[in-house]
Amino acid sequence: MSSEKGPNFLEEIISEELQEGKFPGGIITRFPPEPNGYLHIGHAKSICLNFGLAKTYSGKTNLRFDDTNPVTEETEYVESIMENIKWLGFEWDAVYYSSDYFETLYGYAVKLIKKGKAYVDDLSAAEIAHQKGTPTEPGKESPFRNRSVEENLILFERMRQGEFKDGEKVLRAKIDMTSPNMHLRDPLMYRIKHAEHHRTGSQWCIYPMYDFAHGQCDSIEKITHSICTLEFEVHRPLYNWFIQELEIYPSRQFEFARLNLNYTVMSKRKLLQLVNENHVHGWDDPRMPTISGLRRRGFTPESVRHFCDKIGIARRENIIDFGLLEFCIREDLNKRAHRAMVVEDPIKLIINNYPEGQIEMMSGEINPEDESCGHRAIPFSRELLIEREDFMEDPPKKYFRLFPGGMVRLKHGFIIKCTGFEKDSFGKVHTVFCDYFQESRSGSDTSGLQAKGVLHWVSAQQAIPVELRIYDRLFKVENPAGDNFKSYINPESLRITEGFAEPYLAKATLQERYQFLRKGYFCLDKDTTTQKLVFNRTVTLKDGWKKE
Ligand code: ATP
Ligand code: MG
Repeated sequence: MSSEKGPNFLEEIISEELQEGKFPGGIITRFPPEPNGYLHIGHAKSICLNFGLAKTYSGKTNLRFDDTNPVTEETEYVESIMENIKWLGFEWDAVYYSSDYFETLYGYAVKLIKKGKAYVDDLSAAEIAHQKGTPTEPGKESPFRNRSVEENLILFERMRQGEFKDGEKVLRAKIDMTSPNMHLRDPLMYRIKHAEHHRTGSQWCIYPMYDFAHGQCDSIEKITHSICTLEFEVHRPLYNWFIQELEIYPSRQFEFARLNLNYTVMSKRKLLQLVNENHVHGWDDPRMPTISGLRRRGFTPESVRHFCDKIGIARRENIIDFGLLEFCIREDLNKRAHRAMVVEDPIKLIINNYPEGQIEMMSGEINPEDESCGHRAIPFSRELLIEREDFMEDPPKKYFRLFPGGMVRLKHGFIIKCTGFEKDSFGKVHTVFCDYFQESRSGSDTSGLQAKGVLHWVSAQQAIPVELRIYDRLFKVENPAGDNFKSYINPESLRITEGFAEPYLAKATLQERYQFLRKGYFCLDKDTTTQKLVFNRTVTLKDGWKKE
């Protein structure tokens, strides 16, 4: 991954292991999403880490769908996850599903029962929770803990056959009810769930718990480095206990700090609520922190990868400022965006001394950062549109835009001098009149005139109407935590307006990125029709966000 910051702690560990001659067949990592929602920017961090390590050390990465909970998982999510990973620019070595291993996992459970290390418990979930004790108080053993191996084997088989109702019985590991680590107090291995699974249908009615599935799947795939977020550090002794007792391939777990980003939420449960309750228009709404949302917003894979690289990998939790994500996309778009002029709230500008009916083609760089992009032709005529906010009847000092008697340059055009204006019956200016200086043409200016302000404009006749979707942060506060997070939604996170674009944008494509002069970076939205072009604002040109 060769981060800007030098090797991260995992790279240091792996380099050392490889030097010691470990893993002659190369390292294997995995990315293990649960297909219960769309991937978000936090997942991108994990993807960049897992796939990045494999890339750096010529290893492999498996994509594994952690689909052990039939109730929340769907095929739509599986497809979006695969698409998002590819879009980010990564390729997996193989795709697996935890559900592929249900039979093997069942066999593992039987093995533990036979060793006297697992038992069927009849206690209810509430009773088990109650007997578990607290971190300072030891737990109590279940009265079913000492069932014979034979009885346990029969009961577990009957669980599988569907003879019991949900919650009636569970399979637990027999470890230590007094362990200071709560996860070792006879953790659940299997629960009964009579539910349709997105892949195995109704074949199973018992499903393994995360702790009895994850490490075992790692081991089956011979994962050398199983990397997860810090909350799982306390699960590690259990991860190791199962592998040791089962005597299977010794995969090892490593933890890193998850990505926390302000002004957004990242729990899939919360993101699902935003979608289901129509606070946003779907998982790919450009305000969502999902990869699909960022993509539709106009983020590039490069900018997301660069962001992940910048934040780095560590073992200390912190909160990353949303502004850093915006910085990364701005930096990338500045290099690649095609420039164009769009006027949002127009007033008419008439050039008194320009011949009526004449159209002249001006020339503008498509991208000043990349000469190979060439130039675009911009029609100039007697009647133009400029931004309403670029004219003032009675300007303050140091106003460099247009006012009666003042001069400005029209970008890629001419210098003009304001000679007057007209208002409607409500006192609102609708037309500004100017003279232009023919010798001041951009690129061949011999006029000797100076104009401080530069305005963007479009030719009224040739302008094409466009819809602009102006996005802001989805939440008003830095930390929209808690269950009332929806009360912090920013009511101005989406503003839709109409604009007028130069004809160059008629050829806009979904792949291309644009900078509308002085207005921000934009991309074409998939809602575009032959009737109307729709553009999303990806980000402003400068960081102007103010804390509330
Ligand atoms: P949620 O709690 O929102 O459902 P999750 O962590 O359960 O998220 P998974 O689909 O299980 O989501 O995650 C797949 C992988 O992505 C895991 O290895 C997990 O550690 C990692 N991951 C999830 N969220 C983040 C995050 N914010 N930062 C870094 N990695 C993350
Ligand atoms: Mg999870």
